[in-house]
Amino acid sequence: MEYQHILNTIASELSSIQSTGKVASYIPELAKIEYEKFGMHLYCINSGHYNLGDSEERFSIQSISKVFALTRAMSLLDDELFKRVDVEPSGDPFNSLIQLEYENGIPRNPFINAGALVISDILISQLKDPKKDFLDFIHNITGNSNIGINSKVFESEKKYSYRNASLLNLMKSFGNIKNDIEIVLDFYIYQCAIEMSCKELSIAFMMYANGGKRISDDEQILSPRKVKRINAIMQTCGFYDEAGEFSFRVGLPGKSGVGGGIAAVHPGQYAVTVWSPPLNPKGNSELGMYALERLTTLTGLSIF
Ligand code: GLN
Repeated sequence: MEYQHILNTIASELSSIQSTGKVASYIPELAKIEYEKFGMHLYCINSGHYNLGDSEERFSIQSISKVFALTRAMSLLDDELFKRVDVEPSGDPFNSLIQLEYENGIPRNPFINAGALVISDILISQLKDPKKDFLDFIHNITGNSNIGINSKVFESEKKYSYRNASLLNLMKSFGNIKNDIEIVLDFYIYQCAIEMSCKELSIAFMMYANGGKRISDDEQILSPRKVKRINAIMQTCGFYDEAGEFSFRVGLPGKSGVGGGIAAVHPGQYAVTVWSPPLNPKGNSELGMYALERLTTLTGLSIF
């Protein structure tokens, strides 16, 4: 298949679309991103890789980090993990508190903020140096040891983390946060502040397209059973209250972040990452969703 031709077609379609999205501003440092940035990287298991635009420029991965955090937690624990976080779509915004109140502090899934905060709490309890471990893990799956955090984004989110602090306080009142709230918040914000390019994210996400094996050398990082589960959670919960819409239009397991990135996989076929900062009202990249919808339509390669 002519993948580069398909990506170029998508680029020319995008050039005539005026985005109505808005760059995330509740983390002030993210509001400084140039909104016209656009990158895409498609990594196929058997037929090479393809780039578009700013595909090698690093951006703030934000909630895409929730997939790596869940992966790390699932590599340490088995089913007991899911006593503290459920695997149901929430149908509510990513930072919502509402369901915690009547679900006894158990978040609906690991990809909303509440769930990712519980995963952070679990990693802190399990690991000696969680920040170092987390970065080492990303270096390991990408083969790139200079991936790190943007400290301005980290500080900026720390200053305005009232909502995540409320989620932690509410869950702590139900006994579902074991560590100090400040420590959990700090580790969670650290993960969100990691910067990666579309190309680096596609390489990392190949693990989920490749049955849990690192693509560079086929080393088994996570069992196929656990990868199946993570892909299922991405499919049903990766886009918060827009997970149905993403399935409907794109038809791939994936995860978005408020930095404007979306990483998605077609198990057995490819991983793809797209980056465009303006977000739709649900907090997902507007043009990113368009580009992925066109990719699965033009290639005929969605999981459905
Ligand atoms: N760091 C962001 C937050 O906690 C991540 C949200 C996102 O990317 N959806 O609000």
